[in-house]
Amino acid sequence: MAMRRNSIIKGLEISEIITMLNKAYSDEWLAYYQYFIESKVIKGIMRDAAIAELTQHAADELRHATMIADRIIQLGGTPLTHPQAWFTHANCEYGEPKDFDVVAILNDAIKGEQCAISVYSKLVDITKDKDIITYNMVSSILADEVEHEEDLQTLHDDIGEFIEQIKKSMA
Ligand code: FE
Ligand code: FE
Ligand code: MG
Repeated sequence: MAMRRNSIIKGLEISEIITMLNKAYSDEWLAYYQYFIESKVIKGIMRDAAIAELTQHAADELRHATMIADRIIQLGGTPLTHPQAWFTHANCEYGEPKDFDVVAILNDAIKGEQCAISVYSKLVDITKDKDIITYNMVSSILADEVEHEEDLQTLHDDIGEFIEQIKKSMA
């Protein structure tokens, strides 16, 4: 049966939207895992504050993956079924943690958020006035990614300042 729900989409191919959403879906899973593993291996000063932030962000990325999977299905598509496909479809690079120091981990995570902001900013532009449901979803994800970048940068700067204070007090 024809899907009335897809008749609200104007000027965009449904298959194109599904392809773009599967790419973002891959990004979200990789971002989820990056935060998950970062929260486990992280070391150094103010580690507990960083773990709290990374764990919260991991939960947000998993929630984004859920939202996107649901929208793909609603459009009549199938979310990627094999994790291997995440690497070939993702927009953003997976930032494998190699240096476990808190500052290095936060820098990796900030890079990831900056890529996510670029991806969702494009998706907002592409879907605007064409697919209101996807547009609303990617707008709300974009707002989360903007908040993520700010949270991480604030924490990064606080830790930098704290390290400076310690250096001064020991001089
Ligand atoms: Fe996300
Ligand atoms: Fe994020
Ligand atoms: Mg946060």
